[in-house]
Amino acid sequence: MSNKNLKHKKNIPGAWYCTDPDDDNGEGCIACNVCYTGAPDFFTEDEDGNAYVYKQPATPEEIELCKEQMEACPVGSIGFDG
Ligand code: SF4
Repeated sequence: MSNKNLKHKKNIPGAWYCTDPDDDNGEGCIACNVCYTGAPDFFTEDEDGNAYVYKQPATPEEIELCKEQMEACPVGSIGFDG
């Protein structure tokens, strides 16, 4: 599970977020590039390659695409608390 108490600082406000790489439970982003390659309209990388959400999905198709990234993330870093 992602950590809503330790979100990446650059996430844009909203339901979707990436967990900060400093998460102690191993659920922080490991910069694998899956999400920002798979859904570049919503996820992007910081200077270290760690992901954050820069645009919140709105339509059912956009949300589905983000869910696919959430399921594909190898460390469960992507969260949705909306
Ligand atoms: S898929 Fe997960 S680990 Fe990979 S870049 Fe995105 S948030 Fe980080």
